[in-house]
Amino acid sequence: MTKNELRAKAVNVLTSEKLENIVEMVLFSPEPGVFEAHANDGSVMFERPGCDDPLKPKIIETQGRDPLSDQDVSRFSTLALQREFRCPKRTENSYPYSYDHVAQIWDHEHAPDLIAIHTAAHSFLDEGGHLGEHGSLDILQARAPFILSGKGVKKAGVINSHVRLVDVAPSVAYILGASQTGGMLSDGNYSGSSYLKRQDGKVLSEWFQETERPDNVVIFLLDGCNPNILYDVVEQGGAPNISRLMANGTTFSYGAISSLPTVTLANHTTILTGCHPAHHGVLHNAWFDRKKMIQIVTESPGTWHLAMDYLNPETETIFECLNRYNRDITTAAINEPADKGATYSTFEEVRKGRMAEIIAQSGIDASVPKDTTNQYFESSQDYRWATTADHAGLAQAIGLIRRNWDNLKLDRPKFMSVNFSLTDSAFHDSGPDSDMGRAAVRDTDARIGKILRAFEIESEFDQTLFIVLADHGMEETNPNVTGSWIKALKDASIDVANDSFGFLYLNS
Ligand SMILES: [Zn+2]
Repeated sequence: MTKNELRAKAVNVLTSEKLENIVEMVLFSPEPGVFEAHANDGSVMFERPGCDDPLKPKIIETQGRDPLSDQDVSRFSTLALQREFRCPKRTENSYPYSYDHVAQIWDHEHAPDLIAIHTAAHSFLDEGGHLGEHGSLDILQARAPFILSGKGVKKAGVINSHVRLVDVAPSVAYILGASQTGGMLSDGNYSGSSYLKRQDGKVLSEWFQETERPDNVVIFLLDGCNPNILYDVVEQGGAPNISRLMANGTTFSYGAISSLPTVTLANHTTILTGCHPAHHGVLHNAWFDRKKMIQIVTESPGTWHLAMDYLNPETETIFECLNRYNRDITTAAINEPADKGATYSTFEEVRKGRMAEIIAQSGIDASVPKDTTNQYFESSQDYRWATTADHAGLAQAIGLIRRNWDNLKLDRPKFMSVNFSLTDSAFHDSGPDSDMGRAAVRDTDARIGKILRAFEIESEFDQTLFIVLADHGMEETNPNVTGSWIKALKDASIDVANDSFGFLYLNS
């Protein structure tokens, strides 16, 4: 059987009535430049959208219902709607930018033969899943919060608008005064107006003041934070520091749309390079190396710090971009795996074998770290791990702002990205709309407050632009909707060489 015949057989199995509850759709590229999405109730064949309007599809052919047709960025953007449409059906869901986000995958040399997308409801606890999930194309898994605050930002309050995570790095380069050096855009063409060597996103210039530039930019990345829950905690008074940032800037109620796959390593790197996963190279949390015939795993405790080994050398990080513009700029990547070129990086310390020193200086001992909800520290191993990591990150961030970290003689970072893992851990463990999820937001807000305080002590608060975002969203699954597509493919005698979180590689 040829590869195409085998793929057609797999598509038939995956889009069958039997798997309709667990497979939202399957995606593949039958030939270069052509892409297809198939679901139980229809399919579409399309070309890559243009850079000028990535929301607008270029349809070649539709049969039945186009699974990607709903591009609404505003869907389920309140907690009430999220609750009303819990585990939305494919006919209720939206997939903004999906034509563009699907197309980019096949620009990677190790792109899969087929991508299987979970339904929102699909629970796969026995295959590494959780109560709260992300990774798919749908709006709740793709939507991260997005807040711009402080110096140089227009103060528009809460607005019905959205951005994409690919827009963040070019915007940081712009606002910190880097020069436009030109580079490759998402369609592969060259543009002289881009800030990074490769750039899929655009500068959010309409949200910045024309005459006022910040001295410093700080990103607070709340991993896996569902924005509806974040804003609910803010409204309840549980996140006074994020509330303060919102009051001094612009909050995008439709969020920041992450790239496909909506997972951690792929989208951390997207935020800090301005490129989609297949373009920056960190394709997924795991994928299959077709040449070496091995699975590459970027997201595991033993490999996080090595993720940048897979960065496409034709891409550059915002750290590298800022230093190309001014080699004296100090930058920092706190608990951030996408750290190439950062002056200070937690994971560089890990690579140097200095983690014991970092932990000692962070003041971590066996007791409950500060800013931690005791109850979940005791009951959840994931909560315990993440709050401890975030506590160590906080110590580094404050130390670098106060210029007393690790006896380093570094200037205060002009650009710093601080990653908090606690929201992701809690939202996975108990689902986003849970007491544990809300506790994670409150604990993280308290840590953000300490970083804001450090800027105040240094009289730098008013000179700083703060960005609050996440790498992807999070959605609650239904524990009663179970099943395995791997088993179904095996039962149909289809030999899957590797399944990396739905990225399927077939043996023909
Ligand atoms: Zn994540």
